[in-house]
Amino acid sequence: MEEVRSLKVINELGMHARAAGEIVELAGRYKSRLLLAKDGRTADGTSILSILTLACPKGSEIEARIIGEDAREFMDELERLFEGEFGETVRGHYRPKKRTMKGVPVSPGIVLGRAHHLDRSKTQIFHIKLSNRRELERETHRFRRAVDMAKEQIRRFKSNIPEQVKGYAFVLDTHAKILDDSLLFDSTIRRIRREKINAEWALERSVENIHQLFKTVEDEYIGRRMDDVDSVSERVLRNLAGVKEESLAGINEEVIVVAHSLSPCDIAEMNVSRVMGILTDVGGRTSHMAIMSEALEIPVVVGLETATDMILDGDLLILDGNTGEVIINPDPDTIISYEAKRKHYNNYKSAIDRVRHLPAETLDGHKITIRANMEFLGEGQAAIEHGAEGVGLYRTEYLYMTRGGLPDEETLFDDYSQIGRMVAPDPVTIRTLDIASDRMASDMEASREDNPALGLRSIRFCLSERKLFKTQLRAILRASVYGNFRLMFPMISGLGQFLEAKRILRGVMRGLDRDGIEYNRDIPIGILIEIPSATSIADILAKHADFFSIGTNDLIQYALAIDRDNEHVAHLYEPFHPAVLRMIHQVVGAGKNEGIDVSLCGEIAGDPLSVLILLSLGLKEFSMNVGSIPLIKKMIRMVPLRELRDSLRGILHLSTSKKIEDFVLKKARSLLPDIFEEDVLRYRATGTA
Ligand code: PEP
Ligand code: MG
Repeated sequence: MEEVRSLKVINELGMHARAAGEIVELAGRYKSRLLLAKDGRTADGTSILSILTLACPKGSEIEARIIGEDAREFMDELERLFEGEFGETVRGHYRPKKRTMKGVPVSPGIVLGRAHHLDRSKTQIFHIKLSNRRELERETHRFRRAVDMAKEQIRRFKSNIPEQVKGYAFVLDTHAKILDDSLLFDSTIRRIRREKINAEWALERSVENIHQLFKTVEDEYIGRRMDDVDSVSERVLRNLAGVKEESLAGINEEVIVVAHSLSPCDIAEMNVSRVMGILTDVGGRTSHMAIMSEALEIPVVVGLETATDMILDGDLLILDGNTGEVIINPDPDTIISYEAKRKHYNNYKSAIDRVRHLPAETLDGHKITIRANMEFLGEGQAAIEHGAEGVGLYRTEYLYMTRGGLPDEETLFDDYSQIGRMVAPDPVTIRTLDIASDRMASDMEASREDNPALGLRSIRFCLSERKLFKTQLRAILRASVYGNFRLMFPMISGLGQFLEAKRILRGVMRGLDRDGIEYNRDIPIGILIEIPSATSIADILAKHADFFSIGTNDLIQYALAIDRDNEHVAHLYEPFHPAVLRMIHQVVGAGKNEGIDVSLCGEIAGDPLSVLILLSLGLKEFSMNVGSIPLIKKMIRMVPLRELRDSLRGILHLSTSKKIEDFVLKKARSLLPDIFEEDVLRYRATGTA
């Protein structure tokens, strides 16, 4: 049986989310199928989102078509629902108000869905004074049990971790280790005993103390590890209180999760097919939760500050993980415009995904090499999946920043040999430690310097801490037989320094010979060119190095005297400054004259416009953040290199970065209109400078 009727929307608010919800609920009570049509668009009566896309303000006419055995009764009731204004009085029930919020986009993608609150609010704790030994013993025992439970919970999360984020399982190991850390565990037990206070209060005090210690660290990445401490201690507090947390595994409808914060454990146990997106009040770009969500391709916006207050359970949300925009209870017009944006983005994404495993070859047949920048082992799988041809920069600081004490040779060897094996036969360019003592999680006395960027860091630090340096070099050399390794020294400012580093390396080689340990004697040794003095003497350095990699992040900072982490001068950080481009050109020329490889591994390698300039300056090898690889590959495959070089000839004579940018953008738009459409440029990876 089929019933067709024309229905008029007469309620004040139009067919908004709640009204659509009433229709869906009604449809659920009948066997027949309901289709609603307006202006050539048809919506399925069982989907709120589908109904909302019809965009029906007050006064709209809708054609309702019901097919099935109980069509007549269903239609009668549907008509009554419309006539009854979906149960609204004139003043309206709850009128969901459209609001917009802006946070930090950390994982791209656009989704539309219902909000699901996940309670991750802090557990309330009280101060209790203990009066006798029995109570002290009981509290200590309670604390130990809560910690054991937390360990068991983390172990369970780890064993069920989704395939796509298996590489991040070590984050959960870190959480388990934090539970054992003396600053947290021993110190809480000591406080219970010494201060005669309950376990909750003692734990909170220990965490406060760790916060104080972390406060002095300016590095955002390390600062964020406080999130890991907070999430671990919160887990213990919940266990102490006997509160069972709502889990993301239990979600069985498609939703956008809204929470104060989420931990890597939440992501590890998440029902990936149900969580469409994530919004949090707190968090930053480098949180592990953000990194893992990106690997799972779940759009995420963090740092919204008041999302949990502003958003109600069940609110309709648009989440834009490219821009950080969140729209609460969007009106139908907004939904339609976002629907178009979503389609556009998805088309863009599938177009770049199609090329990620194809070679990066220009339209006129020139081979370009695209490699990945990596911070830690867990990113290896993502690098391969994004189509990287090896690792052009393996930053090795992670293991020195996250562990208590210095990592030993075995730990380093294990990490390096794993990444070597993972990407072989493609190469891994491993950079020796680029850090100052204040960023290390060790007992080493931290040097306090007025100008840390100009201070005892990187190769200078390593040359003054020989033992530490030699341990790392020995681990790299031992790993060198497990892959195709290249070794690179950072922050070289003069030849003497480079020769000194090579001398130490040779000493380590002799030690390995004595111990009968195998290594690759011919491991290529290169320089990370990131100080202006090194660009000036690139011709001299090129005679002693096997390769150069240009590190523009620091090169720009040192060339323009702009602290790369200082937001007050961020506008003066100009990658296209003529001085910077001339320096790059000089290094490329010096490398060419000596016949050594020159690549570039600064953030600009992940930016389409910069890559066009760099190609025109003669560079053919780039290493970039993993997220940028597919887009840059797609662009390179569309570039007619010879024509590009012809049309950008002369940029080194332009006088300002603005003139250079305008000039190149104009050429880029005519040469590659598909890539340089404004909105496509917006989809650049979030890490891009
Ligand atoms: C650079 O300075 O360009 C670079 C690649 O290294 P980092 O960002 O680690 O200093
Ligand atoms: Mg650098």
